[in-house]
Amino acid sequence: YEEELNKREALAAVGQLAAGMAHEIRNPLTSIKGFIQLLREQGGAGRSDSYFSVILTEIERIDGLLNDVLVLARYRDDKIVSERFLVLDELYGVIRLLEPEANRRGIKLELDITPGDWYVFGYRSRIKQAFLNIMKNAFEAVLTQGSVVRVTVYGSISQVVIIVEDNGPGLSPACLENLFVPFFTTKQEGTGLGLSTTQRIIADHGGEIFADNSSRLNGARFEIRLPLSTTTST
Ligand code: ADP
Ligand code: MG
Repeated sequence: YEEELNKREALAAVGQLAAGMAHEIRNPLTSIKGFIQLLREQGGAGRSDSYFSVILTEIERIDGLLNDVLVLARYRDDKIVSERFLVLDELYGVIRLLEPEANRRGIKLELDITPGDWYVFGYRSRIKQAFLNIMKNAFEAVLTQGSVVRVTVYGSISQVVIIVEDNGPGLSPACLENLFVPFFTTKQEGTGLGLSTTQRIIADHGGEIFADNSSRLNGARFEIRLPLSTTTST
């Protein structure tokens, strides 16, 4: 009986996920379709360059969305292998990726990263994706001048702690309650999958993620705790 209930709940969840996904995929597809029609009418002349970049952006959006959905669905990709890796390698990879945008937008990236061989066991690319999701949200939250995104890292024998803070508007009560719910977004162009995916990834690595407004920068504060891999065998 209980098993039956669980099955029904799982099916309802899948239905909700499918509905949300269909809705999210339709928007970029509609936009791609419109631009292709414009290109056809113009015979490729005129403003086709900007059309192409919109099309590419929208395709990347669908790609990212499907990637998030696959993580949530616990789809096992055989091409992604688990390994022991240095957490800071992935964090610095994300920082390098975002540095040009920070420079362009005048965002001050403050780094307070304790050097250390923080080894984690799991999926390197997933952890990188989790860091990127959190950092991207911080970048999207700071719109005004004088914006700051601060990354703090420290560790102990058993875990590594990564904190991302910004001086944006912070998390509203509605946000605090729904932050990790799939498809919850307050953004026009948001998918609402970034944080639910991130939470899943961190949980899959035995870690935890918390969010609040306790930052001294007055914006949102995200804290990720990951257990360290202490031996070479695990
Ligand atoms: P998306 O970014 O696509 O909206 P996310 O799951 O990444 O989806 O985030 C969900 C929501 O959480 C955002 O729409 C936003 O309202 C809120 N949020 C996340 N990070 C921050 C932040 N650093 N500051 C303020 N609000 C945030
Ligand atoms: Mg996001």
